[in-house]
Amino acid sequence: DDEDTWIRTKIYTNLDPGWKESVRFILISGAHSHIRGLGLDDALDPRNTSQGMVGQLKARKAAGVILELIKQGKIAGRAVLMAGAPGTGKTAIAMGKQYTYIGMAQALGSDVPFTMMAASEIFSLEMSKTEALTQAFRKSIGVRIKEETELIEGEVVEIQVDREDTGVAAKTGKLTLKTTDMETVYDLGQKMIESLNKEKVTTGDVVTIDKASGKISKIGRSFARSRDYDAMSSDTRFVQCPEGELQKRKEVVHTVTLHEVDVINSRSQGFLALFSGDTGEIKQEVRDQINIKVAEWREEGKADLVPGVLFIDEVHMLDIECFSFLNRALEDEMAPIVIMASNRGITRIRGTDYTSPHGIPIDLLDRLLIISTTAYSESEIGKILAIRCEEEDVEMTEEAKETLTQIGVETSLRYAIHLISTANLIARKRKATEVDVEDISRAYTLFLDQKRSVQYLNEYQQQYMF
Ligand code: ATP
Repeated sequence: DDEDTWIRTKIYTNLDPGWKESVRFILISGAHSHIRGLGLDDALDPRNTSQGMVGQLKARKAAGVILELIKQGKIAGRAVLMAGAPGTGKTAIAMGKQYTYIGMAQALGSDVPFTMMAASEIFSLEMSKTEALTQAFRKSIGVRIKEETELIEGEVVEIQVDREDTGVAAKTGKLTLKTTDMETVYDLGQKMIESLNKEKVTTGDVVTIDKASGKISKIGRSFARSRDYDAMSSDTRFVQCPEGELQKRKEVVHTVTLHEVDVINSRSQGFLALFSGDTGEIKQEVRDQINIKVAEWREEGKADLVPGVLFIDEVHMLDIECFSFLNRALEDEMAPIVIMASNRGITRIRGTDYTSPHGIPIDLLDRLLIISTTAYSESEIGKILAIRCEEEDVEMTEEAKETLTQIGVETSLRYAIHLISTANLIARKRKATEVDVEDISRAYTLFLDQKRSVQYLNEYQQQYMF
């Protein structure tokens, strides 16, 4: 889709010049890149297979209800636990697309902060555990600041120029700009057409557009859209820019996170620390002052608080100190919505000798909304694998899909997903265009799943070091 095209273009422009010559395709596929949303209808009922999501109906509906509560501002300070066996979609439901901000977070609005961390991260940073958690909390709370200005702000959506003659110059131009201000369209449009001609922009070129001056610069060619271009008449040129609105604005609103405000105010060159990520510990006095300042802004109507989402994966890795910190921090007026995930059953709470469900103390568990994900049926596994094949641009015969589904049932969904790309490489090596059963079998023998790996270890244990 358009957003993907934009990302591909960005990646392309950042490539090494040497690479640019040889790159033909950029395929983006993260573990959850096939997930485009929760796949719910307007009444929040899950469609069986929709937006890349398969099955797991109850959990998806529950996630949808929570989203709705968040949107209505009714859930701040509460926390959610996604509990279920490995590979049952906990992360997929909470996050969606991994490489962009689509997921639960996007449904909330693009300036709502979404922070993701694995619980174990807090043990490796060069700061105390509670400082790391405090920073994660404050990264998940936005401050929407309103400023008055006369700036013309926004970006062009698309320009379409119909050519009358055969030369490069555009004699007449049709511009599609998302705006209500016709004067701006006319002005900017003229400048863009001039610039298009000067730069000799042709079909398939990828350009950037300076919003203020209308100046267009060529940055490369789009392979991703080349098929669309071919289908279009050679008399049409098509230029794509990031989505936005072009309009005169009196009020400019921008959102920063509380953590960003903390860092910028905690040292003389705080903004540099922000870029390097090396923020160190922040003094409580700094935070107290900032909280007071933000409270003042809110009172004067200059700012709003935007509670975001903090996703803590593998939450059973937190210890008792962290859990009691969470218990307290959730009470705070400025708490984000915390979503945790765990695939553990009854296990020891780190830092104690007690066991409890998911390794989470009972008093914290008691305040959580718990969503559980369940094991997939054979047909659901088959559908998820088919979606992943499509996502990874892998052609596969029906028999191979059935074999892979069987492997998914007997081993794990994750393992079966991994076999897609490896089997594809094997198929390409024998110059086949479709992955067949033999490629799947070969990949299956080359890479062990967890059960076979354990079996192997048991058999050959004496040959390993102790
Ligand atoms: P773990 O406990 O091991 O972290 P998890 O429950 O978080 O596992 P995910 O990482 O969400 O599991 O899922 C594993 C893979 O299967 C991912 O690629 C995910 O996108 C895909 N997947 C899981 N559930 C679904 C679903 N219902 N529909 C489509 N794809 C899914």
